[in-house]
Amino acid sequence: MGSIKTSIPHNLVKDLLNSYLHLKQKKHHAVKVETENDKPRIMIIGGGLSGFAAAKELTRHGINVLMIEAKNRIGGRIETVEFKDNAYVELGAQFLHGIKDNALFEVCASYGIEVKPYTRGDWAIYNMNGTQIDKNKLSDLVIQYKHLLKSLSMERHSDNTDRFTAEDLKNLDSKLSNQDDILSSDLGTLAKMISIKELNEEKLFEYKLGVNKKESESNFLVMNGFSKLIIGLLEDVRNTGLFQLVSSAQITKLDYTQDEVIAYTRNGESFNADAVICTLPLGVLKHHEVEFNPPLPHEKVEAINKLETAIQNKVILEFDEVFWNNELSHFVVLYDPTYQAWVDVLNLQFFHQDKMPILVLSVYSNPGQDFPDDKYIVNHFVNLLKRIYPDTFRPLKNHWVTHWNDDPFAFGSYSYHPKGSSLEDNSEIAKPIGRLIFAGEHTHRSPSNMQAAYLSGLESARQVIEQLNLLYTALP
Ligand SMILES: Cc1cc2nc3c(=O)[nH]c(=O)nc-3n(C[C@H](O)[C@H](O)[C@H](O)COP(=O)(O)OP(=O)(O)OC[C@H]3O[C@@H](n4cnc5c(N)ncnc54)[C@H](O)[C@@H]3O)c2cc1C
Repeated sequence: MGSIKTSIPHNLVKDLLNSYLHLKQKKHHAVKVETENDKPRIMIIGGGLSGFAAAKELTRHGINVLMIEAKNRIGGRIETVEFKDNAYVELGAQFLHGIKDNALFEVCASYGIEVKPYTRGDWAIYNMNGTQIDKNKLSDLVIQYKHLLKSLSMERHSDNTDRFTAEDLKNLDSKLSNQDDILSSDLGTLAKMISIKELNEEKLFEYKLGVNKKESESNFLVMNGFSKLIIGLLEDVRNTGLFQLVSSAQITKLDYTQDEVIAYTRNGESFNADAVICTLPLGVLKHHEVEFNPPLPHEKVEAINKLETAIQNKVILEFDEVFWNNELSHFVVLYDPTYQAWVDVLNLQFFHQDKMPILVLSVYSNPGQDFPDDKYIVNHFVNLLKRIYPDTFRPLKNHWVTHWNDDPFAFGSYSYHPKGSSLEDNSEIAKPIGRLIFAGEHTHRSPSNMQAAYLSGLESARQVIEQLNLLYTALP
């Protein structure tokens, strides 16, 4: 694969951030940041969407905010890169889910962010041999299969979320053995995946195989990059004059007492504030990357342990020209034995008027499962494309692979509920402890997504205002 060249695409938020940090350079090196007015200062750990939502709400109420971010960029699990002029690719969050009641639509509109329904064009399913699978046949079979799974589940378990045993799978295999050979073996692999990943099987079938069109059509793509949302929020909070940002500062210890909070960074700095909003992602909390003093209560630690982080990585492949069927808005590789997972392939050219011969592959894996190195994984999928399009295939021009699983400031892509956990665990994690307040997608009762992050940020700001009894009049 000598022809592969990785260029580092331009990160939308970095430049803006650099110019901003330049202004704040003196503060950046200060051990204690002094507030320029006599109002309380709230520290926010983490410059992702929840952190910025909290910052906006607090500064709107005239409260000083000091945000501490470990990376040299802001946005967290929202990260847009510009592959070339006006060709934006999301390395993190991709879709706005559901227009109804999604608070982010209004926010996006207010920042001039262009949102487009993810209405599918045609779509296709392939197996790893590159063979296209008849999706109508498959849909019929999936419906049958789903009923079988459901009836088994109801017989064996009190709820529908339990995993399927080897015995169940054997039973299913025998029931499917009269069906089309390729289809039944692909469905067999599906069953394995369900037992491995313990996903909600109904959702999986409906979404992946398009049985429930309504759901798939209620996703929206942002054409000019989700990072615009973060840039918009940053500019808003900056304009209040109440916001300070310190980046490249990883918090490793947090003291929270009756009177104040002090956060310590890996490189020996410390920052004090009247209260702290902790937006550390679930994966970071699970890895005990930050020492809390006093330690977090037992119930909270237990809730953190019960929830899991799902792993979704992106493999972005850029070619000089589209060689695939451009009528397809996306296609699915039914089951990839290497990763024991589905692969969703989004055809960006389908949604863009400008030339954008880029495929965005979403690859799912299990927590703890190794994610191969970039060269291997890129090769793997390029070979798959060669098998699907042997006659028209063109060489790869550029690629990008994410590693959210071992990013030390995320350790995963988004939270999910494994067996034995529930929304009560999210609520438990969200409970404030005096001056220590929590936010982040995993603290919301509809967790995992950007809307959850945003709403949790607003909620945490309200808690701060309530707790500290800071009843400032909102700025106009
Ligand atoms: C590949 C992928 C695809 C996704 N797809 C979608 C989608 O289609 N739709 C959707 O709605 N959502 C999606 N999500 C989820 C969505 O991105 C998140 O739910 C949301 O962005 C989380 O925001 P947050 O503020 O809770 O956390 P984050 O954005 O993770 O913010 C936390 C911040 O804390 C910082 N931090 C971590 N440790 C420290 C430390 N020790 N000291 C200081 N700072 C620290 C991090 O660097 C980060 O900036 C996806 C996520 C991924 C990764």
